[in-house]
Amino acid sequence: MGKDIEPGKDRRPQRATAWEYAPAPESKDIVSIQDRYGLFIGGKFVEPLSGRYFDTIDPSNEEKLAEVADAGPEDVDLAVTAARSAWDSDWAGLPGKDRAKFLYRIARALQERSREFAVLESMDGGKPIKESRDVDVPLAAAHFFYYAGWADKLDYAFPHRSARPLGVAGQIIPWNFPLLMAAWKLAPALATGNTAVLKPAETTPLTALLLAEVIQEVELPPGVVNIVTGAGETGAAVVRHPGVDKIAFTGSTEVGKLIRRAVAGTSKRLTLELGGKAANIVFEDAPLDQAIEGIVNGIYFNQGHVCCAGSRLLVQESVFEPVLEKLKERLQTLRVGDPLDKNTDLGAINSRQQLEKIEELVEAGVEEGAQMYQPECLLPERGFWFRPTLFTGVSQSHRIAREEIFGPVLSILTFRTPEEALEKANNTPYGLSAGVWTEKGSRILWMTERLRAGVIWANTYNRFDPASPFGGYKESGFGREGGLHGLAPYLELVDGGGSR
Ligand code: NDP
Repeated sequence: MGKDIEPGKDRRPQRATAWEYAPAPESKDIVSIQDRYGLFIGGKFVEPLSGRYFDTIDPSNEEKLAEVADAGPEDVDLAVTAARSAWDSDWAGLPGKDRAKFLYRIARALQERSREFAVLESMDGGKPIKESRDVDVPLAAAHFFYYAGWADKLDYAFPHRSARPLGVAGQIIPWNFPLLMAAWKLAPALATGNTAVLKPAETTPLTALLLAEVIQEVELPPGVVNIVTGAGETGAAVVRHPGVDKIAFTGSTEVGKLIRRAVAGTSKRLTLELGGKAANIVFEDAPLDQAIEGIVNGIYFNQGHVCCAGSRLLVQESVFEPVLEKLKERLQTLRVGDPLDKNTDLGAINSRQQLEKIEELVEAGVEEGAQMYQPECLLPERGFWFRPTLFTGVSQSHRIAREEIFGPVLSILTFRTPEEALEKANNTPYGLSAGVWTEKGSRILWMTERLRAGVIWANTYNRFDPASPFGGYKESGFGREGGLHGLAPYLELVDGGGSR
């Protein structure tokens, strides 16, 4: 029974009932993690020539999950040699429709084993199971399906030009979407007839290694995909290797710059998908309740470990107070804890190092005079955790308004006019993404034409589709992944030939 509201009293719903949720953990039984993993080279798991291994842990409890090979330059050399010989032997010459069959098989295998992938992703990376289950794994499968569809249509994708694969692609991916980033990299590379050497992030190698099992299962020719685990040095060895024709990198702007310098003067092709500091802009005529959900999804999805996160909220001054009040109320309902619990909204921070970086920037925000708000919530004793956080009183010069925090931390700024919103939104060295919330279609168009960001969402946020290109401007990198645009970086396009 609801409570009667006296006439004249505030009729807005009062703070939501504090629900107690019974634990609803997903079982770990579905995954079987080996004690030790080798490198995946030439279609087989092999011991690293380096002889070194490192531990990968579960960030929600700091327990060791497995030992993983640490590939040295000699291992990277083996992987590149395997990729080259697979390319030379039959892969590049295989008709597109036959390459497509392998991609379809991988996509289907990901769907068939989706629960296993989702649980492993959440264990190794700390993200909530509802995200790995409903976002990461289905989108990874969708990427393979999508690019399978292109494999035999390359002549139609680029009319009047003939499309030829480049050769061996070196692909370096981060820890925030480990399986999904592997799919973003591998699917277009294979569809276009290239072979690949993939370097997963040090803290999240396990789903890439499970993908290697899938690759064996679907009988992809040996050497077409090679997976070299390791730290930054392994990535650097992939970048330096003279046998690599193209580098595709997703990660920090800092490392992106190093890679760009390393390939300068070589014939290697390069695409970089780097950091961001996106503005999520809420106008006074926006549907505020929907916008609140978009803001929450924009910054707290995947603990804010998202390059396109809406980490700078720009709110029109006239609605600042109701937006702030609703946001604070909503933050109190977010559940932080066990990544495997199906009710969890925010899981564990990916690593101690990342937690320290978030803490440092949040401290800087407080020291520089911004006001911090965090809901009351109990955090587990072990593991790496950070409460959903927001800052008001943020000015453009504050570090929390300029630097990528890559954590669940929102900086709120205000504006009065669309011009001011635009000025503030574009006042960043980054240019990956942005969001616009308004009822007016004309204003959406006016803003999107002027925002310097590669991806702009209107009245929604963090929507992804394999058919839609993704990538940045300025220090967020260059090149596009996804869609038709995502094929071009893996192809030599020669005038003449192709379809007319
Ligand atoms: P990095 O850019 O260091 O990591 C991305 C990938 O590059 C990892 O596989 C990493 O290996 C590898 N790598 C590291 N150094 C080199 C190198 N010199 N040459 C080639 N490859 C290299 O990101 P971090 O994990 O250190 O995160 C730092 C910050 O970067 C975060 O706080 C966040 O702000 C940002 N970031 C942005 C991402 C994005 O999608 N835009 C993704 C990840 C981070 P290893 O994991 O072994 O170090």
